[in-house]
Amino acid sequence: MHLSESVSTIPGIGRAYTKLLEKIDIKTVEDLLYYVPFRYDDNTNVCRISDLTANTQATVTVKVSDINNIFTRGGKRLTKARVEDETGQMDVIWFNQTYLKKSLKPGTVISLNGQLDQKSTRPQFVSPNWEILYNGESTHTRGIIPVYNTTEGISARWLRAKIKLALKYADIKELFDNEIKRGYGLLNRAEAMRNIHFPESFNKIEPARHTLAFEELLLIHLTGMSLKSKWHEHVNGYVIEVDTNLITAFIKSLPYKLTNAQTRVLGEIVQDLKAEIPMNRLIQGDVGSGKTVVAAAAMLCAINAGHNCIILAPTQILANQHLETLQKFLKPYNINFVLATGKTSSEKISDAKTIIIGTHAILHRLKNFTNIGLIVIDEQHKFGVLQRSIVTDYYTSQFAPNLLTMTATPIPRSIALVLYGDLDLSVIDEMPPGRIPVKTWLVEENRRTSAYKWIKGQVEKLKTQAIIVCPFIDQSQYEDLKNVKAAKDEYEKVKKHFSKQKLGLLHGRLSSIEKEEVIDKFVKQKIDILVTTPVIEVGVDIPNANIIVIETSERFGLASLHQLRGRVGRGKDQGYCILFTSSNDANLSRLKYLEKIHNGSRLAEIDLKIRGPGNIYGTQQHGFMSLRVADITDTNLIKLTKGCAVSIFGNFEKHHAIKEKLDKIMIINND
Ligand code: ADP
Ligand code: MG
Repeated sequence: MHLSESVSTIPGIGRAYTKLLEKIDIKTVEDLLYYVPFRYDDNTNVCRISDLTANTQATVTVKVSDINNIFTRGGKRLTKARVEDETGQMDVIWFNQTYLKKSLKPGTVISLNGQLDQKSTRPQFVSPNWEILYNGESTHTRGIIPVYNTTEGISARWLRAKIKLALKYADIKELFDNEIKRGYGLLNRAEAMRNIHFPESFNKIEPARHTLAFEELLLIHLTGMSLKSKWHEHVNGYVIEVDTNLITAFIKSLPYKLTNAQTRVLGEIVQDLKAEIPMNRLIQGDVGSGKTVVAAAAMLCAINAGHNCIILAPTQILANQHLETLQKFLKPYNINFVLATGKTSSEKISDAKTIIIGTHAILHRLKNFTNIGLIVIDEQHKFGVLQRSIVTDYYTSQFAPNLLTMTATPIPRSIALVLYGDLDLSVIDEMPPGRIPVKTWLVEENRRTSAYKWIKGQVEKLKTQAIIVCPFIDQSQYEDLKNVKAAKDEYEKVKKHFSKQKLGLLHGRLSSIEKEEVIDKFVKQKIDILVTTPVIEVGVDIPNANIIVIETSERFGLASLHQLRGRVGRGKDQGYCILFTSSNDANLSRLKYLEKIHNGSRLAEIDLKIRGPGNIYGTQQHGFMSLRVADITDTNLIKLTKGCAVSIFGNFEKHHAIKEKLDKIMIINND
């Protein structure tokens, strides 16, 4: 059985199970083997019946001597068995599993694992795990037992059995030669796969994990490098002559001076535009670091060279805002602006000098727009996913536009290396001068009333506006009903405290028109306090909003909180962020960092250290590449594998197995 074959080639995996497995991203035999346990149960201490003591956890190997179903008067159905080994006898009880009488006939040798009853005078098992031993071999009860995350319809026991079968039949070929294995302390691939699931001993788990994590990260690096070289070799871009005078004049026309970081990043972009290879670059910069103006300058270059541009925003509201901003910035240059919505099918694009502004809904129509010199993706937190899909779209065409993605999600450099191996990265690591950091307080529950009073005072006296982010219930991408309910509850609660203020409610279940109405009212100051769910896009600029209140803030990553608070204090006035929490647990001290630190990347690094991956980006994790074995915070292994990838890349004649594997991945990437 080959690793790349479908899981349906494994005995006992029919169409229904194949479908279920697909839901957890398991399609091939290899995917299944990569589905690693999240913990192991230690059932290595196998006892004999005479050694058992009540009220403990134990594992025994016994023979069934008698088994019967009993139906009690209370309607309970229990199965009672008498089992024995050479040291004695004991009783075992199961509830509602009358079929066991048929499976465990007298004389059958079985292994049992479970909790021993505390009440009876001699130890007795109640509902233990059981399995029939064939040739004395155990999968579920004896030894080191792998435990897997399960999903509806798939039990850990079922997974365990199928993984064992896969390990038995699969032809696990080596990827690495001995030199690499020795150099990086790797096990043979088959040995690693076996030991990650059914370790011979506990100290075999770590080397197995290391081996598979190494392989996973290495292949990610190599995939990124291949994508990049493919882009370089096969795709042509427009060579854009950049008129330096024009850019200088544009910069002079701005009401402020560009920061050094903005200037540096713009310089990097200009170099890309001039080159034959189309740009494929990501700008990372904190909220408010001024990415838009950099993108505007880049678009101006492309327009001036006779091309059109597209800018994609994540929401219609943001698209509208971009339209306004760009029209203002680029007024003297006689540019056509077209707002393309998801619905319109035939926008009138004159031949040149057009900037098309749309949401991601126009993605599938990108190729309808001709003579596109630059696509800007204001992606917020979708992590390069869109960019990648556009890239693969253009592999086959003669000309590819330059691509520029912007993200405000602070990503530690080491992680960027894994996530964006195929992109060039520019970081705007400096805020415009005079920006006053948002004053942040972690406020205890007993001070809530006075906090509300203070907010009321600010709203009344200073005519400022406030945003209240509701309790965070569920981390679903699509705002689910629980979050909407939480928002409505919060709205009612807040209303009692702010009877004189005008309140608005914003959540993901509103239609986009309704959402825009609410935002529009807020921008026009017809709403004083906006109650909103956390996953809502508040990416719009509301210069007069200076207070943000975040409920259940302990559920967010520091980086996400930082992004949320970046929504306020965008005008001239001091911004304030009030963090409420729903518990008093020790990990709240983490939130204190927000009071002192105002740099998104540093906060992300701190969170990474304290909480580990998966949690850093909180609600904004979607689209984030998920690793199967490796830990994305393992910077040492990331660097180690990067070094190894660099030495392998370009030396593929020495690494056939890796090349073959990589080619398969690239085919999937192109689908
Ligand atoms: P983001 O990077 O979050 O997209 P924006 O591009 O929206 O940030 O910029 C935030 C605000 O900062 C805008 O009002 C913009 O006009 C202003 N801004 C941008 N660059 C500078 C600068 N160099 N000096 C002062 N203000 C700036
Ligand atoms: Mg922006």
